Amino acid sequence: MHIAVIGTGYVGLVSGTCFSEFGHDVICIDMDEEKIARLNAGEIPIFEPGLQAMVEKNRRSGYLRFDTDMKGAVDGADAIFIAVGTPSRRGDGQADLSYVYAAAKEIAPLLRGYTAVVTKSTVPVGTGREVARIIREANPNADFDIVSNPEFLREGAAIEDFMHPDRIIVGTLATRAQKVMADIYRPLSLIQTPLLFTSLESAELTKYAGNAFLATKITFINEIADLCEKVGANVHDVARGIGLDRRIGAKFLHPGPGFGGSCFPKDTRALFETSVTAGAPLRIVDTVIDINEKRKQEMAARVIAACGGSVAGKTIAILGLTFKPNTDDMRESPSLAIIPSLINAGARIRAYDPEGMPEARKLLPDIELCESSYATVETADALVVITEWNEFRALDLARVKALMRAPVIVDLRNVYDPHDMARHGFNYTSIGRPHEFSCPPQKAT
Ligand code: NAD
Repeated sequence: MHIAVIGTGYVGLVSGTCFSEFGHDVICIDMDEEKIARLNAGEIPIFEPGLQAMVEKNRRSGYLRFDTDMKGAVDGADAIFIAVGTPSRRGDGQADLSYVYAAAKEIAPLLRGYTAVVTKSTVPVGTGREVARIIREANPNADFDIVSNPEFLREGAAIEDFMHPDRIIVGTLATRAQKVMADIYRPLSLIQTPLLFTSLESAELTKYAGNAFLATKITFINEIADLCEKVGANVHDVARGIGLDRRIGAKFLHPGPGFGGSCFPKDTRALFETSVTAGAPLRIVDTVIDINEKRKQEMAARVIAACGGSVAGKTIAILGLTFKPNTDDMRESPSLAIIPSLINAGARIRAYDPEGMPEARKLLPDIELCESSYATVETADALVVITEWNEFRALDLARVKALMRAPVIVDLRNVYDPHDMARHGFNYTSIGRPHEFSCPPQKAT
């Protein structure tokens, strides 16, 4: 199969690389010349475990190419995947579809022979139909079908997710397009991955409904965590207790500072806007968005409370800036809400993140970036863990305490054991675990 991928960001680069790993002939296009030059020089512009080796292997064997030239890529492709960004539109929360429509306009005059035009970007219901209209208007003779094939990969585990997905959603009722998609994903059908064929609209909505459901689950456990603090319960015991119920499931029941990232915030906003426009407003999603935004601000208030009611003139050490571990992505990270609030309250911020510092330098110019966790905590009046990178779990706590000015830790990801913290003499706050009510660690049964 000849595949063109338009947009070589997180999703385009991972999808294109994995398609080439399946044995397809793939060309990834981006309008960002610098990005393509870096990829052609063997440099991977994002941090994603396992990606570098897979890109190198498939570039070397000729299955994977990178280019800025749309014409050469689209000509003769069996399928063109549109994987450009769909950020929140400033002001109204709707998905900004200008990149998707621009890509559709660009490919329209270049289509030759039958082509499946596939939206992999997360796009609201109705976008596929509009892409078809744009192509047909620009090139009435084009022989193509539109397919919605939303992507469910998680940054940080993207290769694993793409190669072993729970399911593949293929939104098209056209048999020719279904056949192309079945051929592309054959290596995954062979390992029993369900391929779910639906209408275009159902596939488009499935992606948003999935993300909104997961965002709701996170928000639910965050609120249960707040309640645990008030009534003396441990949120992890409650989460395990409900998660073992197979109707609920154990995933996405870890409390924290509120969800962020490149998908959940923008996708919940876009879904809510779609629902309002369609006359079926999703009130639950609206509430989730509101709670989550407020939660990020409340986290700064927690830090201030842990510092005795004021952070004015104090040095706060922050560990973790990215929206989750194993990515360098800072989009809508809780750190981008918490840190400015602390600065506004008079704090000086020192911070460290294993992969997020180049991006943080641009987005948080007023903070001091340090070279390691230990350098960050030096002379700090409090340490705040915002992202649960593994390396923060294994810190030498005695050393941390000796380096800090005051032994205050605010753990927004519950990476430490409250009993350990008490033993080391820290004044420790976490989420939903009033520590006098936490059982000592037990062996999992
Ligand atoms: P990204 O911003 O990392 O990448 C988008 C790329 O598209 C950029 O490199 C940009 O230069 C390029 N681009 C834009 N217009 C173009 C054009 N006309 N021609 C060529 N290149 C063009 O975005 P992303 O995180 O990969 O997300 C892409 C889509 O996938 C979004 O709709 C997103 O919601 C969805 N998605 C993302 C994730 C994720 O974890 N990041 C997961 C699932 C779905």
